[in-house]
Amino acid sequence: MTPPLSSSIIGPSGNDSANNASRLLTLLHHAGGEATRAELTAELGCGRSAAGYALSDLVNRGLVRVDDRPTARRGDGSGSGPGRPSHHVHVAATSPVALAAHLRVDTLDVAVIELGGRVLRVEREPIEVRPDVASIFLRITRLLRKLGREAGRPIAGIGVSMPSPVRTEDGYALEPRHLEWAGVPTRDLVREGLDEPWPVHVGNDANLAALAEHRHGAGRGAHQLLYLTTEHIGIGGALITEGTVFGGARGYAMEVGHTTADADGPRCSCGSRGCLELVADTRALMRAAYLPDSPVTGIEYRARVLIEAAERGDPAATQAVDHISTLLGSGIAGLINVLDPDRILLGGLLAKLYPLGAARIAAEMAERSFLERAVPVPVLPATLDCAALLGAAELVLDHVLQTLQVPAPAE
Ligand SMILES: [Zn+2]
Repeated sequence: MTPPLSSSIIGPSGNDSANNASRLLTLLHHAGGEATRAELTAELGCGRSAAGYALSDLVNRGLVRVDDRPTARRGDGSGSGPGRPSHHVHVAATSPVALAAHLRVDTLDVAVIELGGRVLRVEREPIEVRPDVASIFLRITRLLRKLGREAGRPIAGIGVSMPSPVRTEDGYALEPRHLEWAGVPTRDLVREGLDEPWPVHVGNDANLAALAEHRHGAGRGAHQLLYLTTEHIGIGGALITEGTVFGGARGYAMEVGHTTADADGPRCSCGSRGCLELVADTRALMRAAYLPDSPVTGIEYRARVLIEAAERGDPAATQAVDHISTLLGSGIAGLINVLDPDRILLGGLLAKLYPLGAARIAAEMAERSFLERAVPVPVLPATLDCAALLGAAELVLDHVLQTLQVPAPAE
């Protein structure tokens, strides 16, 4: 059997041509849904006739389409430059889509996403303070049913991103603490609210955002990708190891926001004291600038205004950004010692803060991690909008990439 190109590209077993088709579709997916036939054939590495057979298979299944006429090959950044004209291959408008939902503390996003990680439609609704579990899940499933009906495409399934550690086995969200909820059987609640037998997958928001960055964003090609993010409240973390989310024994791993940064620090909602997210998240940034730190009303917007003030050289804003960057660098140093990443991505507000805080973060990393001093780990801002939504869709689209199955269109 032809070996897979990477660990994240695994086809159906026992059939070389189906395996080639699965790998080809995965290459197209990772290329953003469009590539030339020549590029795909070269990357597939199984010979032109086998690649042609795989491509025909995908066309016949309604998963991809090939332009009628060849056009000049675009530069692919590999230094090979434009080549001979080649047919362009696209994700087909008959291919299945994923429905994705991303629950945040203040908003609910629901999207339709196709192969290639293309977001076809997003709907956002505000979330009230301390929302009721049942009413939120009624809203999620109402939106999913509506988008599924209106998509005009076969629905491969549902992916849900939760602001909580999520148990792999059954999609149970252990503690969506910032929503002030106890455990939520997320997969069961979504299934109960649907009238179609769509498969439902659930993941932690930071894990899903990191997965999307690894496949479609600034994490492409990393072997051990460490991801940290902060948005409205808290700090989320994830490790993508050889293309796979590192979940620990049950799926709860990488709660980096709850590593101890100050043993005598203030009490955290998790029950511990001085957790990293208490001293280095969006609320902490606001407090460091002596500004209101309530997470309820538009704190992300106010934090962005603060960072923009630091960009203009405002002393109080600069001091706050420096303070948070130092604590963040210290937290990252500990994670480097434990995880030995080959790339670190900062998402959400941290991506915005990073250009100002890079020097302090790097200095703390070097001072506190001997592994960092031996081999510095590149730190980059994350690049994707809607990363958690895209990651939720990945959970669904993986099944399409592996089985090449196209479900019947939604009624
Ligand atoms: Zn904590």
